[in-house]
Amino acid sequence: MLSSRMSVLTVSFLAALFLLAPSLYAKTCELALQGSDQMKFDKKELVIPKEFSDVKLVLKHVGKMPKAVMGHNVIIAKTSDISGIAADAMNPKKAKDYIPQNDQRILVHTKLIGGGESDTVTFKKSVLKAGGDYSFFCSFPGHLGMMTGKVVVK
Ligand code: ZN
Repeated sequence: MLSSRMSVLTVSFLAALFLLAPSLYAKTCELALQGSDQMKFDKKELVIPKEFSDVKLVLKHVGKMPKAVMGHNVIIAKTSDISGIAADAMNPKKAKDYIPQNDQRILVHTKLIGGGESDTVTFKKSVLKAGGDYSFFCSFPGHLGMMTGKVVVK
């Protein structure tokens, strides 16, 4: 009885260690962004502090409208690349779900979602340089003007 309880304890201890292990090496910064039926993000700036090695970005569409009408995504790129990416996003030969495919200018992106949905993307902070001029935006047609902000990398 005692030994079987011990082994259960040992297994759960090892399982806990295994689950904890990645966090000992990688520090993940969690960023949350909400998009609404009013064609707005809830933030104008995403800040990634210095001490993190990884970033987890969660996009949540808090509205009710379907993605064909009020779709939202998040693309992170150099600020100078944003307008070019937004133009290609509207070209069905280059883009899928308004995300240009195999586009090296796109550093990070979520998928396109509709009301009530969410999407999470994780990435190495090293895809962005500290102090670089980066922006995020939604590439759904017509949304760039309302749905954009800065990404600040410390
Ligand atoms: Zn949008």
